[in-house]
Order: sequence, then C-alpha cells, then structure tokens
Amino acid sequence: MTAGRTQVDKLFLSVEIGGTNLRYGVVDQDLKVLEFGKEPSSLLSEAEDKGAYLEELTRPYLEKYGKEAFCCMTLSLASLMNRERTINFNSPNIKGLNNISLVDILSERLSLPVFMERDVNTALLYEIWKGNIDSRGIVAGIFIGTGLGNAMCIDGKVYIGHSGSACELGHIPVLGFEGACGCGKNGCIELKASGRTLALLAQEKYGCPVGEIFLRHGQEEDVLAVVRACAVAAATEITILDPGCVVLGGGVVEMENFPMEYFQRTVRENLRIPYPRESVRFIMAHSDPEAGIVGAAINARNRMNQEEY
Ligand SMILES: [Zn+2]
Repeated sequence: MTAGRTQVDKLFLSVEIGGTNLRYGVVDQDLKVLEFGKEPSSLLSEAEDKGAYLEELTRPYLEKYGKEAFCCMTLSLASLMNRERTINFNSPNIKGLNNISLVDILSERLSLPVFMERDVNTALLYEIWKGNIDSRGIVAGIFIGTGLGNAMCIDGKVYIGHSGSACELGHIPVLGFEGACGCGKNGCIELKASGRTLALLAQEKYGCPVGEIFLRHGQEEDVLAVVRACAVAAATEITILDPGCVVLGGGVVEMENFPMEYFQRTVRENLRIPYPRESVRFIMAHSDPEAGIVGAAINARNRMNQEEY
C-alpha cells in the first residue's frame, strides 16, 4: 500500500484569503463542507506573524478532529506565484505577504503538507465540479471583479504556464494606451475593464455606490465602455483558445442590472464567423460562499494525486 492510499479518507484544512473576507473550514474527500468560518481579511493583513495568525484561526478544527485526520492544508488567494506554488510574489489585497513562502511557514508550523493556488484557478475548479461541466478540452473562466481575473482548465487540469504566471488576461496590452497599471507596466486592459474602473466612475463622476452603477447609469457611454473592454478581453482569449465553454463570474457580473446580453453580444461580434462565434457557450458561475475553500480542496486533491503523497 502506498502512502497515497492512506490519504484518501482524510480531511482538507482549507483557507481562502480574499480581498475582503478570509474564509476557512474543513472539507472532506467528497467535497462536503464540515466546518465553515469567516473573518475580515484585514485581521490577517494587520497580523505581524501571518503563520501564527492562520494557525490560531484553524486551531479549533485541528483540535476537534485531531491533526492526523487531515491530509493537508490548502490555500486559495489572489497573487502572482511561482510555478511550484510555494512563493507569492504579488498579493495586492494583504499587507506583508509579498515574496514570502506562506507554504513553508505553515507546513513547518502545522507539520502538514500545504498547497497554494490562485483564487481564480480554485474558483474555476469549483465551478467545473459544481456545474458538472464537461472538463474535456478547454474550459475558461472569466471573473470580472476588482480586477479582471482569468483561469483555464485543460482536460480538467488548471493551466499555470511555464513560469506559473499564465492567464493574466487583465494585463494584456492595449495598443496606443499608456495608462500605468498596478502590476508595474503600462497599457494593461484591466485599467479599462474592471470593477476598479467602475468604482472610479461611480465615485468621481456619478457619486453613487459602485454596486448601483448599472442600475442608475447603465446606459451611459462610459459605463458601457467598461463592459465593452471586458468583452474585448474575453473575445481575445476565446479567439486564441476556442474553449468549449466560458464560465462567467465575479462581483461586477453579479451587480444588479449588469448588461449580460450586451456583454455576450459584444464578445460574439468580436469572434470569427462561424466559429467560435456560434459555438462558444457561456455558463454563469455559482459563486457560492464556500467556492474558495472547496476549490482549494479540489486543487489539493489534484496535486496529491499527481505527486502521489
Ligand atoms: Zn497590468
């Protein structure tokens, strides 16, 4: 019997580090959520010792089930990370996480294997599982939130690229555009196509809560221009990949009165005839509160199967 066989009944200690909320819990091998908790992410952001904070947060679960009941800890967060998924280079939402190995810190503290993955990738894994989406071929995920998030799964496996930095759709360059992006370069499409752009419009021009911008100003040209920019980014990806389907999610898509029909029509107008214009299929993400921790568990399960723990 291999070591891997002994892991199959064990639990996942799962943590999603979001921009607003830190969600954590216990997920079993059938992806059933046994425990679920939530704290503001600002607490982690302010914590001097990130490892100590996360250990303290999950300690009640380790005590309740016993450490030997867990096969690993698994993390989901927004960050550029290395191919091995051990170091986060650029984690914009949480202070003090850049260029450290949360994986090493936590595995030392907990004496458990620790896995880490980008939040968009765990989100797509969750949606494929939850929506029972056929994962043969390519499934793309486009998550329009504060930024323009993107992920792809090829034959059920998240594609991370040669250096681990694949699918940064928000940072494709726009010809003739020179705006400075938070990523350190100029002209990224995310500056025109994201919730951040809508938030600026809401605040500086319309003086309304960003969540109501489509409701109150959805017909304004500059609001529609943001939707069009998102659609052009999506069409760029679909043109290259010809995915079987595209999962759409994120806070912007979920806003009241988001012009979904206009968005999809604009994507199609920018696709070749007849395919993929006619063939591309959009699926709405469930975006359940537990998506991050269950997606992180799926990722850990995939990684453990590959690496034969
Ligand atoms: Zn950028």
